[in-house]
Amino acid sequence: MQHFKMYINGNWVESKKKEHIDVKNPSNGSVFASIPRATQEDVEDAVNAARTAFRSEKWRSIKPHERGDILFAIADKIKADRDELARLESMDVGKPLSQAYADVDAAIRYFRFYGGAADKVMGDTIPIEDGLLDYVVREPLGVTAHIVPWNYPLQIISRSVAAAIAMGNTVVVKSAEDTPMTAMRLTEFFDALDLPAGVFNHITGFGYEAGAALSAHPLINHVTFTGSVGTGIEVGKAAMENVVPSTLELGGKSPNIVFSDCDLEKTVEGVVRAIVQNAGQTCSAGARLLIEESFKNVFLQKVIEKFEGLTVGAGLDDKDLGPILNEKQYNHVLSLIEQAKKEASVVAGGNPITVKGCEDGLYVQPTIIDEVSRDSKLAQEEIFGPVLTVFTFVGESEALDLANSTDYGLVTGIWTQDISRAHYLASRIDSGQVFINNYGAGGGVQMPFGGYKKSGIGREKGWIALYNYTQIKNVAVKYN
Ligand code: ADP
Repeated sequence: MQHFKMYINGNWVESKKKEHIDVKNPSNGSVFASIPRATQEDVEDAVNAARTAFRSEKWRSIKPHERGDILFAIADKIKADRDELARLESMDVGKPLSQAYADVDAAIRYFRFYGGAADKVMGDTIPIEDGLLDYVVREPLGVTAHIVPWNYPLQIISRSVAAAIAMGNTVVVKSAEDTPMTAMRLTEFFDALDLPAGVFNHITGFGYEAGAALSAHPLINHVTFTGSVGTGIEVGKAAMENVVPSTLELGGKSPNIVFSDCDLEKTVEGVVRAIVQNAGQTCSAGARLLIEESFKNVFLQKVIEKFEGLTVGAGLDDKDLGPILNEKQYNHVLSLIEQAKKEASVVAGGNPITVKGCEDGLYVQPTIIDEVSRDSKLAQEEIFGPVLTVFTFVGESEALDLANSTDYGLVTGIWTQDISRAHYLASRIDSGQVFINNYGAGGGVQMPFGGYKKSGIGREKGWIALYNYTQIKNVAVKYN
């Protein structure tokens, strides 16, 4: 068992209180590492270090293209360490190894994408009158906080940290207490570069303690948060107390809308992958299946058959699904399945399972719930497990109505060969991303990602996310 330290101001440190948190492998329940439990005092040190670094001439004098080189160097290190990072992510999150590889590859692409962008974000000039030069520059915000969830740690850290550094900010990461391992590795990569101390800091600890202290810190200039709606509201409020912007990515109850003219095989494949990836523990999981009524029997039968053939096992064994991350989440998933047994109809799965050799892992059968009433918790709330709820519709307007019937609006899939219908629905759906005849588009590093309604505020990924980490300054120059 290995004990890790945090990284503050260029030094590896223990928490001031010298307390630790155990890190478990969810595939078999074993404790394999421990991390410091940061409190307010440690957060104080990290924020002060990031602030001092931000205000230093040393950081300011690093040219934009050189910041890009820093990010390219991190991408190269991730690439060179690809196997070890994938193994760590799989062990820590419990996700199938091949999915962990996809996460590592996405992380490489984030660092490259934002590395290339570092010297390409430009300002503007505004014509006002003769003798007045008016220009607009985008400046970094300062200290950016990055509060990371446990389901895709490496990808989620990479997307926001790379964008923030590209724009000249400094960074304090609070990794997820359940899954800090790849964040630790990434921190080693930053440590190995010759960066000014304090540009990149990483604290570990509980959300209610270290996370809360970080998001409420008065010297933070921006907070990026990915996680649950309830916590997101807390983080957003804390930032607002300091009049600081936040970017919040808060999950969903995303629908796949299936019409009878879809390509059957590809649609079944897409719908199943959308919900079983990472055992459904994905903010953009395709958690609701809306099927055109006349097509229900044919389509649902195919999906059930596919579900019944799915394999479940330890992350490193690379089955179709791994375990549920922790007991809290496992109990949540099982209690909703029990509710479904009472008020709806469970047509596939529906039970916990034991995986041989991994008896202390928390595994759930991939499950399909049919005949769910629209206003049930099962139809409205995030289950965050491998559980698909099925609805039927007649015609486009009912499909639209159902798709928009939750508080969320993160991702929507539309499966049809009718191009006119697909575009019409895409224009009417309350959703930050719409996929037509696909779902997820290979991670979509370049695409804006974020939510309508309670799925969040702001967008991550792609070019647009760079603007999260800048502020505008207008300069007006009078000359004779
Ligand atoms: P989950 O319920 O799925 O664990 P959370 O939204 O609670 O997800 O957690 C996402 C991230 O937010 C984690 O890094 C967690 O430590 C952190 N966190 C949890 N509570 C708070 C809080 N009150 N303030 C700031 N961060 C928090």
